[in-house]
Amino acid sequence: MSENPPVTGGDAAAPVTDTRAEAADPRMSIDVVSIFPEYLAGLQLSLIGKAVDRGQLGLAVHDLRDFTFDRHNTVDDSPYGGGAGMVMKAEPWALALEHVLAGGSGEKPTLIVPSPAGAVFDQRIAEDLASRKHLVFACGRYEGIDQRVIDWAGEHFELLPMSIGDYVLNGGEVASMVMIEAVSRLIPGIIGNPESLTEESHEDGLLEYPIYTKPAEWRGREVPEILLSGNHAAIARWRRDRRLERTAEVRPDLLARLTDLSKEDLAAIERFESER
Ligand code: SAM
Repeated sequence: MSENPPVTGGDAAAPVTDTRAEAADPRMSIDVVSIFPEYLAGLQLSLIGKAVDRGQLGLAVHDLRDFTFDRHNTVDDSPYGGGAGMVMKAEPWALALEHVLAGGSGEKPTLIVPSPAGAVFDQRIAEDLASRKHLVFACGRYEGIDQRVIDWAGEHFELLPMSIGDYVLNGGEVASMVMIEAVSRLIPGIIGNPESLTEESHEDGLLEYPIYTKPAEWRGREVPEILLSGNHAAIARWRRDRRLERTAEVRPDLLARLTDLSKEDLAAIERFESER
């Protein structure tokens, strides 16, 4: 059974959202294929929306149902071998992806297929994807997409099945938005102040230090005095220590992976551990 009412009269050549014309020479083009294109409307807000408006990012959202030709715009059918749930049919996906390829530059785009069975997306993968010119997101629904069209797509795209974590969502739209946001903020020029990307959680394997703004005293709670001292070296050491402390406490798995900790770092970690 279909998840939403049939859409009729779709023009297979017209994405629901398409900013590619305005983005004459974007740093990156992103295509998203979904049966719920409205889900992706949030990408038109905030920093990504502004990047799209400025022409730094090209964004096209395609309705998978525009690539169906029956009266009900069917995109799913029952699974071979039996079992619960429905499977997305191969042909609408192949037509939609061929349409995306036809609108591309001729270079192999990267096709990200959100799936709880994919490799887990992280900041390193976001950094890698931020250097690509053309990303395509295939948002599955139901039990997922017929494997044959995924295998076929591997011949035309660089194929990346990606999970955003060890849990199951209803569809790939939210997962795609997570990945698009994480990737696009790393593209040079998209975040106003690139320095805000350094010392962020996961940037170098540590979590961020605690942050404060005015007033210096709020409901009896004071900002740590050192942050008001103007001593930049001492502030930098305090922040580094807080990053090490927080990471040791919340994500010891991340800390265990770091190989370039200084003597001061190791001494700080030893101190936190003995105090705990
Ligand atoms: N039957 C699939 C399985 O067991 O692996 C789960 C399908 S899920 C209900 C429907 C769609 O949601 C998937 O095709 C994928 O697009 C998306 N999805 C669900 N969980 C996800 C996750 N953790 N990461 C990325 N995408 C996810």
